[in-house]
Amino acid sequence: MRIGKVNNDDTNINTEVIFTYQVNGVYSGLSSNNGFEHHTYILLSNNQYQMKDLGCHYFLNLDQYKEQLISGDVLKLDSRRTLFLSFRKSSKDNTLFLTNSCNNRCLMCSQPPSSKNDLAYYFQFTKSLIDILPLDINDIGITGGEPTLHGENLIKIFELLFERYPDIYLHTLSNGRYFSKMENTFKFKDILSKNMAIGIPLHSDYFADHDLISGKSGSYNETMKGLYNLASFKTRIELRIVINKINYQRLPQISEFIFKNLPFVNHVAFMGMENIGYAVKNKEQIWVDPVEYKISLAEAVSNLSGWNMNVSVYNIPYCLSEPSIYDYLCKSISEWKIKFPDYCLGCHFIQNCCGLFNTSVYQSSGIHPITSPHNL
Ligand code: SF4
Repeated sequence: MRIGKVNNDDTNINTEVIFTYQVNGVYSGLSSNNGFEHHTYILLSNNQYQMKDLGCHYFLNLDQYKEQLISGDVLKLDSRRTLFLSFRKSSKDNTLFLTNSCNNRCLMCSQPPSSKNDLAYYFQFTKSLIDILPLDINDIGITGGEPTLHGENLIKIFELLFERYPDIYLHTLSNGRYFSKMENTFKFKDILSKNMAIGIPLHSDYFADHDLISGKSGSYNETMKGLYNLASFKTRIELRIVINKINYQRLPQISEFIFKNLPFVNHVAFMGMENIGYAVKNKEQIWVDPVEYKISLAEAVSNLSGWNMNVSVYNIPYCLSEPSIYDYLCKSISEWKIKFPDYCLGCHFIQNCCGLFNTSVYQSSGIHPITSPHNL
C-alpha cells in the first residue's frame, strides 16, 4: 500500500496532475530534482495516464477521478495497483476509515464488516495519511467498522490529529461498547474533553430489540454503560437512532426514554436507512418504508424538541416527512452518495433536501415532488 498527495502546482510539468509518494510509502514532499529516484509519479495528460517509477511505466485508469483531482487530494494505491481517493480536499465529508472490523453485526449495516484483522494495516495507513493531509482542515470524521477496536492506538490517532490541527473538530462513530469499562474510558479522558463528539447508535429503549438489531447479545447493556461512562467525562455525545422495521413503532417511547435516562446527550439524530449491504440481505426483517413512520417520527421529534433537547433528522427527504418536522431535516447524505432523480427537479424543496442515497438498492414508494409549499 502506498499513499500520495496530488500536486498540480509543479510548473515543470505544465498542467499535469502529479501524484507523488516515496517508494517506502512515506511522503516527504515533492521534488523532481532532489530525490527523484525515491518518488513515483502518476501523470495525467491528454487522457493518457501514466505512472512512472524510474525505468518502469505503469498505466492506470484514472477516468473516475480526472474531473475531480485537485492539489491536496490524497490517493491510495493498493497492492493490486488499484487507486482509491482517500481524501478529497474540497469535500466537507472526509473521514478517516480505521477498520473494516466490528464487534457488532447490525442487521442494517451498510458496510458489512470483515472478519480479517486489519487493525495494524489501518493504523499505519492512517498515521501516514495524517502526515500528508492538507494543513487547513477544520473537521474530519472517524469511522469504521468499529474504531475503538484499536484500543489505545485510537488515542494515538486522536493525539496525532490534535497535534497537527489544534483547532480541529473530530466526529467519531462508535457503538460505544468499548467505553462500558471505566478503565477504558479513563484512558481517553484527556482526549474526550477536547473538541470532539462521539456518535453512538441506540437502537431501542427495549434491550431485546437493541440486541436483535445490533446482532450482539448484551450490547444494549454495554452501550448504555458506555454512554454513562462517557458522560462522566463530559464527552459530547450524538445519539443515533437508525429507524427500521424493528424499532419504528417505538419512536415516541424511545424519545421519552432518552429524555428520562440520557438527558446529557448533546444531540439526538433520527436516521433513515441506506439500503445496501446487510440492509439488502435482511430486507424482510429490517426494511420499513418511511411513509409508515412519518407520524411516529414527527411525534418523537416534537417530544424531544419540546423538552429542549437538540434533535435532527438525517437521510429522510421532505416528501417523506410531516411538515411539522421540516425544520429538523438535515442535508446529511455525503455529497458523493446523493442523488436527485429527475422527478425531484420540479420539487420546491430540492435546494434544502438531503436527496436520496445513490447507493440504495431500493427506495421508498412515497417519494414525490412537492410542487408548492402550499401543496404538501
Ligand atoms: S421529491 Fe426529491 S427533492 Fe423533493 S423532497 Fe422528495 S427527494 Fe427531496
